[in-house]
Amino acid sequence: MIVIFNRKLNDLEKSELREKLEKENLNPYFLEEETGKTVLITENKFPTSLLDEKVIERTMEIDTPFQLVHRSFRPQGTVIKVKGVEIGGDNLTVMAGPCAVESEEQLFETAEIVKRAGVHVLRGGAFKPRTSPYSFQGLGEKGLEILARAGEKFGLPVVTEATSPEIADLVAQYADIIQIGARNMQNFELLKKVGFLKKPVLLKRGLSSTIEDWLLAAEYILSWGNFQVILCERGIRTIEKFTRNTLDLTAIPVVKDLSHLPVIVDPSHGTGLREKVIPMARAAVACGADGVMVEVHPHPEKALSDGPQSLYPEQFKKLMNDLEVISILVGKELKKSDIPERLEVKSKPGPLNVRVAFLGERGSFSSQVARRTFGERAELLPCSNFREIFEKVKQEEATYGLIPIENTITGSIHNNYDLLLEFPDLYVVGERFIRVSQHLGLYPGTKKDEIQVLFAHPQGFAQCARFIESLQGVRVINVGSTEEAARRTGEFGIGGACVSSEEAIKKYHLELKEEEIEDNPRNFTRFLIISSYFSPSSQDDKVSCVFAVNNYPGALYEALQVFAVRKVNLLKLESRPRPGKPWEYLFYVDWEGNLKENIYEDMIKELSTKTSFWRILGSYKNSWKKS
Ligand code: PEP
Ligand code: MN
Repeated sequence: MIVIFNRKLNDLEKSELREKLEKENLNPYFLEEETGKTVLITENKFPTSLLDEKVIERTMEIDTPFQLVHRSFRPQGTVIKVKGVEIGGDNLTVMAGPCAVESEEQLFETAEIVKRAGVHVLRGGAFKPRTSPYSFQGLGEKGLEILARAGEKFGLPVVTEATSPEIADLVAQYADIIQIGARNMQNFELLKKVGFLKKPVLLKRGLSSTIEDWLLAAEYILSWGNFQVILCERGIRTIEKFTRNTLDLTAIPVVKDLSHLPVIVDPSHGTGLREKVIPMARAAVACGADGVMVEVHPHPEKALSDGPQSLYPEQFKKLMNDLEVISILVGKELKKSDIPERLEVKSKPGPLNVRVAFLGERGSFSSQVARRTFGERAELLPCSNFREIFEKVKQEEATYGLIPIENTITGSIHNNYDLLLEFPDLYVVGERFIRVSQHLGLYPGTKKDEIQVLFAHPQGFAQCARFIESLQGVRVINVGSTEEAARRTGEFGIGGACVSSEEAIKKYHLELKEEEIEDNPRNFTRFLIISSYFSPSSQDDKVSCVFAVNNYPGALYEALQVFAVRKVNLLKLESRPRPGKPWEYLFYVDWEGNLKENIYEDMIKELSTKTSFWRILGSYKNSWKKS
C-alpha cells in the first residue's frame, strides 16, 4: 500500500507513525518523492484511519509486490531526460555502440558511425562481466575516460555498466546512464547504490528472472528516490540452444501495462546472432518497446567481445531507417538529428523558443505530429485554417508550420499545394507521417442506434465512408478539425457522435465506442514542415518542385526525360490546374536527391530550359525510406 502525503513529514512525525504501524505488525518504508512530498509504502494494506487525514494527499492499494514501479503510481508514464534525449512517452530511442570499449580509435570510429545514422545514446562496456575469467575484462577506468570523451565529441549521452557498488561511484563520474547488467540484476547492494546515486539507470532483465523479479529489482532503485529507471529486456535462459538467449518480447506489452517505466529491448544479447538482430529489433518496436539497444562494431570479426552479434555499420544504418518507418505505425517518433541541426543553424529564433503553427486545437492529428516532431518545449500555435499557418510562418510569428499534404486514402490536400505556390518565400524543410486511426465517439449515455448527428472533419468522413454509410438515418455535419468534431459532440449532448482521434475523444470525456473505423487500415497522412529559413544540405535526400510545360506534343516527356537520363527516381508526380490560368496545368514532382551535388544542379538547369515555369519548393530528409 502507498500513501502519498501532501507535504514532507518531519522526523518526529515519521517516527510516531512508524511506532503506530509497527504495533500493527507493519514495516513502514518512507521516502521523499522528487516533488519533496513524503511517500509511505508498506507490504500489506492497513486502514487509513490509523493516519491523520489532514496530511494525506492520496492512498493507493496496489495488489502486486512492486508498488512504486506499478503503472497506477504514474499512469501517464515516465519519460527520462538525459542531455536532451527523451526516453519513454512518444519517443523511440536507439542506443548503440560496441560491446566493449577496446581502444580510443575503435570507440571513436564506432561513435561517428552511429551518430551519422542518427543514434541517441552511445554504449560501450568498460567493466565487462564476462562468463569466463580468461576473457577480455574491459579497460576499466581508462575505458570510461574514452567513452566520456567520445560522448562529448559526438554530442551523445553515454551508457556503461557498473558491476559493483564501488565501481558504480566511478561509473557515475563518467556516464550519463548507469547500466546494471543481467548478471547483476539482483545484486541488491548495487541496486541500492544506484538508487542513492540518483543518475538514470538502465536495468537489464536477469538471465533467469521472472517479470516480477525484474520489476522488484527496479523497485529497489525507486525506493531510494531514484525514479529514472529504464528497463531492458535482453533475453532469458530457456531450453532453446540455437540462439544465445530467448528474447522474451511478450514481456514488453506485459511490462508496459504493469509499469510506468520505459522499456527497451536488446536484441544483440537476446539472440547472439548478428543476422537476427534486425528482425527482432523491428519486432520489439512493433510490440511497443520505447527503444532498442544494439551492439555495433566497425570490424566485428576483430571485436574483443561479442563480435558474432555485433552489427556492421551498414546494417545499423538500415536498422535506423526500418525503425523510423515502424515507429510511425505505433505512434512513436524516432527523431534523427535532421530537425535539431536546422534549429542550430538558425540563429533567430533560437532552439529554445521554437513556435509551431498547425491546424486545429490540441488533440488534432496535426498537434500530435507537432508534439512528436518538436517535443515538449516547442510552443504550439493553433490556427483555424491553412492560410493562417502560412501567414504566421511568413511573418515569423511561427518558426515552422505543419501542413498536411496528402493522405493514403483520400489523396492530396490541394489547398496546401496552392498555398505553397502563393507563398514563394516559404520552403519545405521536412516531412512527417502519422498513422491516422479514426474512432467513433459517443456522448456518454448515447447508444449506437440512438445517434442523431455525427460530427466529423471532411477527411474523417472520406476515410470512414463505408462505416458512416452503415449508420443509416444519421445527420452528418462537417466541422473544421478532428478536435472540433469531439468538442461539438460534447456540446450537443445525448444523441451526439463524432469521428475523431482517441486523444480528442478522451479530452472531451466522450465514450470511445468503436476503434479504427476507417475503410482501410493503411491510412497515413503526410505532413510538410514549412519555414521561411531554407538551408539545403547535401544530406537531404528528397526534393519537391513544381513546373509547367509549354503546349506542344511531347513537352512533358521532354521535361521528365531530364530526370530519367540521370536515373533520378521520382517519388511523386501529380498535376493540378494552374491557379488563375484556365486549362493550364502544373506538375508537382518529388524526387530523390538534393540541391547541393553537381549532378542535381545540372539537372535543374536543364529542367529550366524544358519548362515554361518551375520552382523549387524545398529539400529535406525522406522520412519514409524503403529498406
Ligand atoms: C552488455 O550490454 O554489455 C551486457 C553485458 O549485457 P547483459 O548484461 O544483458 O548480458
Ligand atoms: Mn555484449
